[in-house]
Amino acid sequence: MNKVLVTGGTGFIGSHVCLCLLEQDYEVHIVDSLINSSPNVVQKILEIKNLKTKIFEKDIFLHIGDIRDEKFLNQIFSENEFLSVIHLAGLKSVSESTENPLQYWEVNLGGSINLFKIMKKYCCKNLVFSSSATIYGNTDKKLIDENSEIKPINTYGETKASIENLLKNIYHSEEKEWKICNLRYFNPIGNHNSGLIGEKPSYPPNNLFPYLNLVASGIKEKLLIFGNDWPTEDGTGVRDYIHVMDLASGHIAAMKYLMSNKPRILNVNLGTGKGTSVLKLVKTFEEVNKCKIPYEFVSRRTGDVARTVADINLANKIFDWFPERNISDMCIDGWKWKNFGHVSI
Ligand code: NAD
Ligand code: UDP
Repeated sequence: MNKVLVTGGTGFIGSHVCLCLLEQDYEVHIVDSLINSSPNVVQKILEIKNLKTKIFEKDIFLHIGDIRDEKFLNQIFSENEFLSVIHLAGLKSVSESTENPLQYWEVNLGGSINLFKIMKKYCCKNLVFSSSATIYGNTDKKLIDENSEIKPINTYGETKASIENLLKNIYHSEEKEWKICNLRYFNPIGNHNSGLIGEKPSYPPNNLFPYLNLVASGIKEKLLIFGNDWPTEDGTGVRDYIHVMDLASGHIAAMKYLMSNKPRILNVNLGTGKGTSVLKLVKTFEEVNKCKIPYEFVSRRTGDVARTVADINLANKIFDWFPERNISDMCIDGWKWKNFGHVSI
C-alpha cells in the first residue's frame, strides 16, 4: 500500500506535490472540486513525469468533488487505504475572505472538519496540512520561528489558525494515534521548470509575483510598489520567497518524517530563511528574464508588514530538508509558465 491522498492536488502547490510524490513512486489520489484549477493538470503532470522516466504509468487518479461532501469522501476512503493525507484544498484569497467570511469558514474549516471525520472513521491518522505564515502576528523578530505569537489579522489567516487549533484538539484526544504536521508556508512562487504546471492567475492578482508576470507580459502597464519607506534595506517590503518545487519536496519530507516516527503534532515553517525586497525581486526578474518591469512607488498597503522571513532551522533539523533553488531560479521558472501562454484574463 503506497497510496497518498492529496486534497487540492490540481491546484498550484498541490500539482507540484503530486509530481514529487509520483517521482518517489507513491500512488497519488487527488480530491479536487476544480473550483480554482483544471482537470488537464493531471495530463500535464504525467507529461512531465514521462519526459523524465519515458514510461507511461497510470498511477495518478483524480476524484472530482468537494471536501465538504461527506458521501463523496466516504466513497473514496471505503475504496482505498491511504498511507497519508496531504490536505491543501481550500480558498486562499485574503481580500475575498474579508468580503465573504462565511464562504471561507465553510470551505476551509467546514471542509477540513469533514475530511478529519472521515480520516478518523477509516483510521487514516497521518496528516500533512497546508497552513500559512499569515497566522503569525506582526513581529519585529528578524526571523519568525514556530513559537512566535499566533495572531492572524485577516479572515483567511483565522481559518488557518483555527484548523491548527482543531488539529491540536484531535491529536490530544488520541495521542497514541495521530501523526500531524502543520506546514506554515511563507511566500511560494515559481513553477516546475518544464513550464507545464503553475498557478492559475486571479485577475487582478493580489500577490506580487503574478503581478510581475502580468507587467512582463505587457498586460499590465506597470507594477505598483506598496511603499518605499519601510524600515528595510531599500525601503520596500521584504518577504521569504520559496520555490514551489522546494515547498513541494518539504511536504514529502514531512510525510516521511511522520511515517517513520511515533505519533505527534508538529508545526513547521517552510521558507528559505532569506529575505528579498520587492525591488530586489524586480531587478532579479529583469536581469534573468531580460525584460523591463516599469514600476511606480505608491503608498503602503493596509495590513502589510515590513518584513516576514522564516526561521527554518526546525525543518532543516528534523526533516533534513533544505531548499535548493534561489531567487533567480524562482524568477526564471515562474516566467516560463506565463511565457508558455497560460495567462488567461
Ligand atoms: P490553489 O487555489 O491553486 O489550490 C487549491 C485547490 O483546492 C484548487 O485546485 C481548488 O480547486 C481546490 N479546492 C478549493 N476548495 C475546495 C473544496 N471545497 N473541495 C475540494 N477542492 C477544493 O491554491 P494553492 O496556492 O495551491 O494553495 C494550496 C493550499 O496552500 C491552500 O490551502 C492555501 O491556503 C495554502 N497556502 C497557499 C499559499 C500561497 O501563497 N499560494 C501560502 C500559504 C498557504
Ligand atoms: N507588493 C507590491 N505590489 C503588489 C503586490 C505586492 O509592492 O502589487 C508587495 C507587498 O507590499 C509586499 C510584497 O510585495 O511587501 C509581497 O506581497 P504579497 O502580497 O505577494 O505577499 P504577502 O504580503 O502576503 O506576504
